[in-house]
Amino acid sequence: MPAQLIDGNLLSQQLRAEIATRAARLTAQDKQPGLAVILVGDDPASQVYVRNKVKACGDAGLYSVLEKYEETLSEADLLRRIAALNNDPKIHGILVQMPLPKHINPNKVIEAISTSKDVDGYSVLSAGELLTGLPGFRPCTPYGCMKLIESTGYDLRGKHAVVIGRSNTVGKPMALLLLQANASVTICHSATPDLAYHTRQADIVVAAVGRRNTLTAEMIKPGAIVIDVGMNRDDAGKLCGDVDFLGVKNVASYITPVPGGVGPMTITMLLMNTIEAAERA
Ligand code: NAP
Repeated sequence: MPAQLIDGNLLSQQLRAEIATRAARLTAQDKQPGLAVILVGDDPASQVYVRNKVKACGDAGLYSVLEKYEETLSEADLLRRIAALNNDPKIHGILVQMPLPKHINPNKVIEAISTSKDVDGYSVLSAGELLTGLPGFRPCTPYGCMKLIESTGYDLRGKHAVVIGRSNTVGKPMALLLLQANASVTICHSATPDLAYHTRQADIVVAAVGRRNTLTAEMIKPGAIVIDVGMNRDDAGKLCGDVDFLGVKNVASYITPVPGGVGPMTITMLLMNTIEAAERA
């Protein structure tokens, strides 16, 4: 039997309806949740991402500001702007779109954002909160993956999860969230000699690599859950993930499509984090 699709568009819609209700409640108390999005330079993909984030805020009743700066903006000026937003009571979340121009140190910028407004969950403190199981902001993409898994009703306790990829923004936080949900977790990366050896033992595989066909049907156990974070282009220029969807869907029990799986959840979890920031403020 082919795998059931985990529909990220549908789950996003449901969560955004909940977000809109919470935003309206806060707005009625004169505490409308607010997100500041900063874009430095004119990278075309980044322009689309920030536009989508700001539009999603508007649609769910959140206040948002998009600040666009020239590529030549100095690091000092950007840090000053972040300091001002840290002190702005209308702003509950601050997001600086990556990548930044080469003359700006992204780590310095991330650490300049107040932890209470770090809705991307990228700061060292937020990472430490996740590591130690303290409440805090979880990075949006892995947080969204957890919601997708939760939506299947699958209990992760005692299950074996394999995460392919170990970036600070996806792979590592994903592994920690799975661990927190009581899965036993294996992390694979480019130096893993036999990826299939690990994935074949997994009850759940999360692929976050950035290379299509990284995970194929013969690499998974029948009935496994497969979450595809990758965003790649196929030979025809169409968006595709890291997973050979057509092959894997015949072996897995649940699978996320690309597009329409993890992608829509990332912005949704950004909105969720912003609502949580406003509720805590
Ligand atoms: P990244 O920083 O480039 O990390 C990729 C990871 O994959 C690295 O840890 C790398 O290992 C590992 N890797 C590379 N080749 C491998 C191989 N042959 N076998 C096993 N592991 C391998 O990328 P990222 O930011 O985590 O993103 C991963 C993918 O997710 C990209 O396609 C990105 O576009 C997509 N993404 C999607 C969303 C969304 O909202 N849908 C959000 C974020 C990212 P090393 O550490 O050893 O180099």
